[in-house]
Amino acid sequence: SHLRSTDIRTDNSPLQIFVKAKKKINDIFVEIEDYVQDTVGFMKSLQAERNIVTAEEGERVESYVDKVHAIRDVLKRDHMKVAFFGRTSNGKSTVINAMLRDKILPSGIGHTTNCFLQVEGSDNGESYLITEGSTEKQPVQSVGQLGHALCKEKLCESHLVRIFWPKEKCLLLRDDVVFVDSPGVDVTPNLDEWIDKHCLDADVFVLVANAESTLMVTEKNFFHKVSTKLSKPNIFILNNRWDASASEPEFFEQVRAQHQERAVDFLSRELKVYTPKDAEERVFFVSAKETLQARMQEQRGQPSHNGALAEGFQTRYFEFQDFERKFEECISKSAVKTKFEQHSQRGKHIATEIRQTLDEILDRTQKMKSEQLHVKKEVHDKLNYTEQQLMLLTQEMKDKIHHMVEDVEQRVSKALSE
Ligand code: GDP
Repeated sequence: SHLRSTDIRTDNSPLQIFVKAKKKINDIFVEIEDYVQDTVGFMKSLQAERNIVTAEEGERVESYVDKVHAIRDVLKRDHMKVAFFGRTSNGKSTVINAMLRDKILPSGIGHTTNCFLQVEGSDNGESYLITEGSTEKQPVQSVGQLGHALCKEKLCESHLVRIFWPKEKCLLLRDDVVFVDSPGVDVTPNLDEWIDKHCLDADVFVLVANAESTLMVTEKNFFHKVSTKLSKPNIFILNNRWDASASEPEFFEQVRAQHQERAVDFLSRELKVYTPKDAEERVFFVSAKETLQARMQEQRGQPSHNGALAEGFQTRYFEFQDFERKFEECISKSAVKTKFEQHSQRGKHIATEIRQTLDEILDRTQKMKSEQLHVKKEVHDKLNYTEQQLMLLTQEMKDKIHHMVEDVEQRVSKALSE
């Protein structure tokens, strides 16, 4: 039954907002590219025939081929990025592993993450890593090997190691979510460099806090810095290691209320990124370790609860799933807005410019025609034909591209209002 619930999730996952919008906008740019090519072809024929089109106009329209191509390249690489921060050993790597449903990142004693690790999907079932400044793919078969490979590299704390993991092993990777694990914010980092290098294009930030202690100044400072560089970043707070509360049931409610209040206060009053009411929806009490264990059991076809887990496991497991759902909604809407809105603006701009050029040529053709009413019928027919073609092309441009661009805009605003 657990496997089935995973399957259902495939279809109605909020990540599909991004996945579908990406497919749609990509299809639109394929059409725009075709259309620009057609226009270039037509302009070339006009240039050759009668000098109706200037060389400069021809070049201008031709330059849009490269522009559209460049947008399509960027579009192909567009993804949703989530970055995890917090003190060492709060469980950042374990949270990522739990979300990926497998032990991919090394975690625990002796495996302190001492540089940035990015996990992203790879096609054709390969798993490998690429260190910063290199293009060499180092194959990775297991977590042990990955830990070893990371240890033997001399890595600077702000360096990035990209880990490619088969897309088909995890829905989040398949849907273009990219995970970034960071060294602990307590390792006296160069925060500015961290943020400039790894945070400016992040759609969502997750602060992995330790529920056994309160939020630390170092953790808070980091997010203060982030919110000076990014306007209203999306931040989630996970109070991890909440399983520890099971051993002290007499303080449970009180501790939870205190953590909740402080986290909400931090997000709303200090950082001013949410209203207090919205901030309530961004704070969760979870156990990444239990969730990961449960999921690995499920993958083996065993029940998630093997009886040995602490009191309240089921509630914490549900809360982790609740976090994932809200996270998916947030990240896919944010990514559609920040990434695709730009592309749709550029697409519209290109369409408008080409239309203007065509309109100018049409004007010119009509003038030439009226000036040369007395010229040979042959020339007259030619101009007539050109005029017709231009009118058709311009009309088609108006109808088609504008329709397409409006369509993207509608999708973007629909995603935003949903
Ligand atoms: P990181 O340095 O923030 O990436 O922390 P790790 O993910 O490496 O976790 C540090 C240690 O805490 C590991 O031994 C984990 O097994 C353990 N840990 C992580 N999450 C939890 C949790 O929710 N509960 C408990 N009890 N231990 C956890």
